[in-house]
Formats: sequence, C-alpha cells, structure tokens
Amino acid sequence: MDHGEEALAERGRFEKASVRDADVEGRRVLLRADLNVPLEDGGVADDTRIRAALPTIELLRERGASVVLCSHLGRPEDRDPALSMAPVAERLSELLGTGVELAPAVVGPEVQAAAAALEAGDVLLLENTRYEPGETRDDSELARGLADLAELYVNDAFGAAHRAHASTAGVARHLPAYAGLLLEREVRELTAVLDDPARPLVVVLGGAKVSDKVAVIERFLELADEILIGGAMCFSFLRAQGIATGKSLVEEEGIDLARQALEAAGSSRCELRLPTDLVLGESFSAEAEPTVLDGVEVPDELMGLDIGPATAASYAARIEAAGVVFWNGPMGAFELEPFAGGTRAVAEAVAASSATTVVGGGDSAAALAAFGLADRVSWLSTGGGASLELIEGKELPGVEALLNGEEAAS
Ligand code: ADP
Ligand code: MG
Repeated sequence: MDHGEEALAERGRFEKASVRDADVEGRRVLLRADLNVPLEDGGVADDTRIRAALPTIELLRERGASVVLCSHLGRPEDRDPALSMAPVAERLSELLGTGVELAPAVVGPEVQAAAAALEAGDVLLLENTRYEPGETRDDSELARGLADLAELYVNDAFGAAHRAHASTAGVARHLPAYAGLLLEREVRELTAVLDDPARPLVVVLGGAKVSDKVAVIERFLELADEILIGGAMCFSFLRAQGIATGKSLVEEEGIDLARQALEAAGSSRCELRLPTDLVLGESFSAEAEPTVLDGVEVPDELMGLDIGPATAASYAARIEAAGVVFWNGPMGAFELEPFAGGTRAVAEAVAASSATTVVGGGDSAAALAAFGLADRVSWLSTGGGASLELIEGKELPGVEALLNGEEAAS
C-alpha cells in the first residue's frame, strides 16, 4: 500500500468489501474487468486498460484462485467477429506470462465445461459480454448463467460501473460480490476530491459539450473554490452572455444550461472563470493558421480552437496554487498541433503542481499521454463517464451491487 492509499484507507471512505479480504483459495472467481481497449488491424492498439486490470488478476492467481475473466468490447451488433476478445486474450497472456484460454461464448454448456476444468492460477477469458443481448438490459437469465460459472464475483470494471448490466450489477445478486483493487482505488481517489479536500479546490473543465458536464459544474459550484472553463464548452457560456462566437463549435442546447450555471455561480462562493483570450483558426484543421485574439468576441469567419496564452497562464497559476486539482476535458482542439498550446499548458501545470491532482476523461488522458505526462499526476482515472457520474453524486450500479464490508466480514 503506498502512502496516499494508506491515508485514504484510514479515512475509511470505501465501505464495500474488498477482494483483499475475500477468501479465494481453491475457488473459482468470476472477475469483471474493463478490457474495452481500442483495436487496430485485428490487434490491441492501446493496452492501458489491460495493464490496469493486472493487479487484481495477479492477486487472485497468487492466492490460489482460478479466474473466469469477462469484459465488454465495443458495441457489437449480433456477434460481430471483429469484436471478439481474441486479441485481448493474446495480449493478456503476454502480459501475464501464462496462457489465457478464450471461451467460445459468454455462457452455456461449453463455457461451463471450460470453467469446470480450471485449476488454481488458470485464467479463462469469456467472449465479449455484449455478444449476449441480455447484457445491456441486465437480463436475469444471463446474470444467472454468469454466476453459475463461479463461486465468487469480483468487479474491477470501474469504467463500466455506471452501467447496470448483467455482468456489472446483475450477477452480484447471485454471488458474494467484492470490489477489485482498481475499482476500489478509483472510488477512493475520486471521492477524496469531494470529501474535505485541501484548499483551494480548483476544477478545470473543458471538452466538447456543456451538456456532458453541467451536472459536474453544479456539484462543484457547491464544493470547489474555482472552476476554470475551456474547450469548445466555453462558447456556450460566451453565447449565454450575448457574446458572438463566429464559426466556433457551439452546442446550442448548451446555451441555456450555461446560462443556468452562470446564474447558480452568481450566488455561489465558487468562482466560475471563462477564457479572456482565444486562439482562432479558419477551420478545424492542422493546416489552419492560428491567430491570437486578445478578447473573446470571435469574428464571423473564424472559430475559437484553443484558449489564449493569457488565459492559459492564468489557469496555470491557479493550478500551481491549488490544494487539490480535478481536471476533465481538453482546453482546445489539442489533436491539432497549432491549437494544442492551452491543453499543454494546463497539463504541464497539473504535472508540476504540488497539489493532489486527479484527471478523468478519455481525451484528457490521451492529451496527458501525448505530452508524456501521464505518470506525473496523482491519479489518472480509467473511467470517463463513470468518473463524472461519481463526481456528480450519482450512485454507480456496479459499486452499489457489491457487498458492504461489514456484511462480508460477518
Ligand atoms: P474528455 O474525453 O476528456 O471528457 P471531451 O470528449 O468532452 O473530453 O472533449 C474532447 C474533444 O473536444 C476533443 O476531441 C477536442 O478536439 C474537442 N474540443 C475541445 N475544444 C475545442 C474547440 N475549441 N473546438 C472544437 N473542438 C474542441
Ligand atoms: Mg471524450
């Protein structure tokens, strides 16, 4: 247990039963992980999620359990062979240094037989759980079929914990259910942002749409000291203030939401900050000529593609002075080199800050990785949607379904 983890454990906020306390020796464990990796040319393009699942798999194997592992992969129609778990099985066996058998299906007699043949330390990977139409509607027969494969259930799929699916929630109605190491850590690190954080709590929000993040803004207006807005999302806020946004990407439905957030900010002690300058271009293209606008009134023929240098410097200073930073969503079109500066400045400030820094969101994680800073933050969440829902204060079905620690102990 590292230092941060110890402090968190002492504060005892994660009340669910942990795999660390489960008696798994000689038993078969159904482990739900988030192995929903990007694929390319029939192989795994980025194995971050597989690596993140290794500690729990290794813990179970070391303790003499056999592991029936499952995950969804993409959104297959029917049983699209392009979304088979085969490349995941291959990459996982390389990482574990042992063969991982791929089951021919998710449930059924053949899978039962393969599970029954497992010995201590063996790993059987089920096919894509979304090959079963019952998965996403939390079908009870499918949940029962999955439960029949094992004696215990461990959920480590934080990235899918906001979904009430058969493999994330339903199966926990039929087996004693424990939290995996990753899921447990994710909940702890994200909850720590909300629960008595070191001050000031500075929240940086960007990305494409206000509607994705308005509930997060509302929550942080109650909890944070400052919210710094960037990304295309800022244009809904500027429009709500009657400011012209030219050809910038504006989510029209977001304008009303932004107006409401601005009103709520007016009566909150939290400061909601918007960019004071921008980088403009004529189109969403890496060939577009970047020009700095000292102000935020965008001319008709141009679009805002990044926060400007003055805004970036001001946001960086606030990040450096923070006690806790939560960051979700890039500050601009960071995929286009001329418009990556604002996101890079924020990423560098987050990496350099002595604050506790927690980052969520797929594109924010991709940006950190692209700048080589992914290992310079306190916690990089593997769950985009799930991390936002947890911050919003929603219950995550995949977490709620687990045993409570006390129940498990008795
Ligand atoms: P995350 O995955 O981190 O939650 P989002 O998915 O909400 O982030 O948003 C990321 C996307 O927003 C990126 O593809 C980025 O190009 C886009 N984006 C950010 N700022 C702008 C902008 N000013 N104009 C157009 N697109 C933008
Ligand atoms: Mg995204």
